[in-house]
Amino acid sequence: MSKSAVVEIAELFRKALDARMWRQMEEMGQRWIEIQDKIDANVIALLAEIGDSKPNPAQIREMQRWAEMREQVHAELSKYQDYVGSVIDSGKGDSAKLGIQSARETLSAAFSSAGIMGSFNIVPIDSVEALSAILAKGAPLQNLLAAAFPESWVHMSSALIEGIGLGLGPRETAKRAFEGMNYGFDRILTITRTEQLRAYRNGSILQYRESGVVTGFKRLSARDDRTCMACLISDGERYEVADEFADHPNGRCAIVPIVAGVDEPEWENGADWFLSQDPDKQRAMMGKNYYEAWKDGAFELSDLRRTAHSDIWGDSPQIAALKEFV
Ligand SMILES: [Zn+2]
Repeated sequence: MSKSAVVEIAELFRKALDARMWRQMEEMGQRWIEIQDKIDANVIALLAEIGDSKPNPAQIREMQRWAEMREQVHAELSKYQDYVGSVIDSGKGDSAKLGIQSARETLSAAFSSAGIMGSFNIVPIDSVEALSAILAKGAPLQNLLAAAFPESWVHMSSALIEGIGLGLGPRETAKRAFEGMNYGFDRILTITRTEQLRAYRNGSILQYRESGVVTGFKRLSARDDRTCMACLISDGERYEVADEFADHPNGRCAIVPIVAGVDEPEWENGADWFLSQDPDKQRAMMGKNYYEAWKDGAFELSDLRRTAHSDIWGDSPQIAALKEFV
């Protein structure tokens, strides 16, 4: 099945968004490492002072060096939080605009590939009202972001105290402490990505709703080895134009419009794409237990589709628990 121009444009824009977010993630990662490099000297100094003295956790927390290190971690994390806040704010604005622009170009492509001189209402890309409506969504994620920073400290400090208690060497203890600190960083990355992916989709949806020519849309999954099974089997699903479009954290699904008077866009859907992959890749993507049950005929791919709900992240596609079938 050949891909329509509409699908190609939707994919092109989503890749552009992805590329921009990768550069952002790299910079965020770089700055995070810089923080850790700064803190490292204080952690090592603390561990050197402790030496072989085997203090208990309460004694560790009473040390002057501990207080200094904690202060430093808090100060650095607070600066980093401000930095991430500005990355998200500007990133959401840019993503929403990219989403609007992607929707416009997709609509133009739909008309021109059908040989129709179509016209549609345009969402003014610099309209403050339009953008603020899009950007207002996602407030719970801001709370989650704020929580990620104390969480970094909690994991870091308990890894430190544990390492000291176990009598691990200073390098090993410091390493575990920073691994603990990274626990918060993973969340920060997920939130940063998810906020922008959502702003992008909401920008597109707004333009589609306002266009006056879109009757609905279809889910276009990324269809690569990073795509989860839930998105793959949901690929091609149809929505009414007024429906909310749900995706999970880090969800990379795009939206393809169904335009009045134009043939519905078609592509090789995620389930068919999956079926055409080699068995090793299928097993890796699905997980061994699901794969074996599927091969034994316990279920069809389409039987797996469920919807999960989270108060923070909203609704998202999910696959059924394996125990439903075996
Ligand atoms: Zn997914």
